[in-house]
Amino acid sequence: MARRSAEALVLSARNWGEADKMVSLLTRECGRIEAAAFGCRRPKSALAAGMQVFSHLDVELTEGGRVWTVRQCSLKGRYRRLSEDLSAMAYGSFVAELALELFPEHEPDPDAFDRLLQIFHAFEERNPRLVALAAAYQLLALAGLALHMESCVHCGAPFAEPMSVDIGEGGVLCADCRKEDMPLFSADLKEFIEKLTTLDWQAFLSPQKEASMRPPASLSVKKQELFAAESLLLAYLRALFGRPLRSLAFIAQLGGV
Ligand SMILES: [Zn+2]
Repeated sequence: MARRSAEALVLSARNWGEADKMVSLLTRECGRIEAAAFGCRRPKSALAAGMQVFSHLDVELTEGGRVWTVRQCSLKGRYRRLSEDLSAMAYGSFVAELALELFPEHEPDPDAFDRLLQIFHAFEERNPRLVALAAAYQLLALAGLALHMESCVHCGAPFAEPMSVDIGEGGVLCADCRKEDMPLFSADLKEFIEKLTTLDWQAFLSPQKEASMRPPASLSVKKQELFAAESLLLAYLRALFGRPLRSLAFIAQLGGV
């Protein structure tokens, strides 16, 4: 069985057997991996500290068929707010679950990995609800599933109000193709979703740094647009996966979404 070294983010960890865990990792080198961490729930296990959700690790893995094995790990970083603050944890779990749904097993995508690191980092400093919303639109785009907003998905007519979104088709419909009873999709909302999708995390997190080098990444957020972008996202995800994500129940308990 081949040994592999990888940089990994733990996206889910469930207890298994007497002292083991089954973990879902996103790795830079090997893509998404399901792996068993044997004995990691024993206090003296060298794996104990690392096999927690939101850990950033260097791992040694043994390749298996469907399930690999975690041999060793060393902690590169831990996201404090994601493990201590309930709201950050809930929205972070949503992003982790979405990443697990969107990224196929064993297909490395270093860009997606780096983006997820930045997103987890953003949870440490910024409003978790806004971070999760931008993260979700960005992960969809990285997975090639962004909503098509430039032109009508039926006839190709360029975006011009009034437009609507057809969730099932994954894009907007023009005045001729939309049905009367479909809610309108405004140019303002389109622009807001585009801003979220292209949000530069580096600048978003440290707006003062290198101020002379680039314009400040101000993200002005109107409540109404935030809610509209959120409900559109949730409807789209439900249509994509055929069910709501599990983590949404956790967010709902906290009074969000
Ligand atoms: Zn059309």
